[in-house]
Amino acid sequence: MRKNIVAGNWKMNKTLQEGVELAKGVEAALNERTPNCDVIIGTPFIHLATIAATVDTKKLGVSAENCADKVSGAYTGEVSAAMVASTGAEYVILGHSERRAYYGETAEILKEKVLLALANNLKVIFCIGEVLEEREAGKEFDVVKAQIEESLFNLSAEDWSKIILAYEPVWAIGTGKTATAEQAQEMHAFIRKTVAEKYGEEVAEATSILYGGSCKPSNAKELFANKDVDGGLIGGASLDVEQFMGIVDAF
Ligand code: PEP
Repeated sequence: MRKNIVAGNWKMNKTLQEGVELAKGVEAALNERTPNCDVIIGTPFIHLATIAATVDTKKLGVSAENCADKVSGAYTGEVSAAMVASTGAEYVILGHSERRAYYGETAEILKEKVLLALANNLKVIFCIGEVLEEREAGKEFDVVKAQIEESLFNLSAEDWSKIILAYEPVWAIGTGKTATAEQAQEMHAFIRKTVAEKYGEEVAEATSILYGGSCKPSNAKELFANKDVDGGLIGGASLDVEQFMGIVDAF
């Protein structure tokens, strides 16, 4: 059976000290309950080693928010998948719409990043989603299908056990505008069908598909109640222990 997952994406927020406090706060809150989902925090690179050494990563997974598309070498400022793995982080978020839009990450670049992440035993939280103009033009299904095909359909069925998908309609990210439960379920079912057509029902049924985009304690329950919505990728609300736990508790 596929896992339910709530994953935070801190983006470029929190100093190291603030990040360690937040991670400890999330861990303490998790120790007070038995969550019905896996819980992951996605932190800036420089926080990873300290946080992975501070928390029990079996209870609270640690994720990078990106990794390089090259193995190693003269790429000043880049961080490789091997470096991420060496910190004790188990996951990496790839293909976030902010990386695609602001840092020119193409499907080809993302394909390389995914391969390197998997080669270094990282699990990949792979983000897909349409911008508003694409939805208004009725192209959201084509866009999402192409994003999956172009960066992930070179993988083997075995590789897919390390892929978590996150459907994040770009118009809902950080805008306070959430997709309705119906819109989320419709797209998630389409994504699962797309995976099933290529890899078969077994792989598709085992793939966790998270929703992301202004997910909050007040709407998480309604979103997660849908058959094909297996949790959330949480931006803003992951920066506050109470808000984040409110979403974890939605399961
Ligand atoms: C995100 O950036 O992955 C995200 C879902 O952000 P927010 O929850 O703030 O919309």
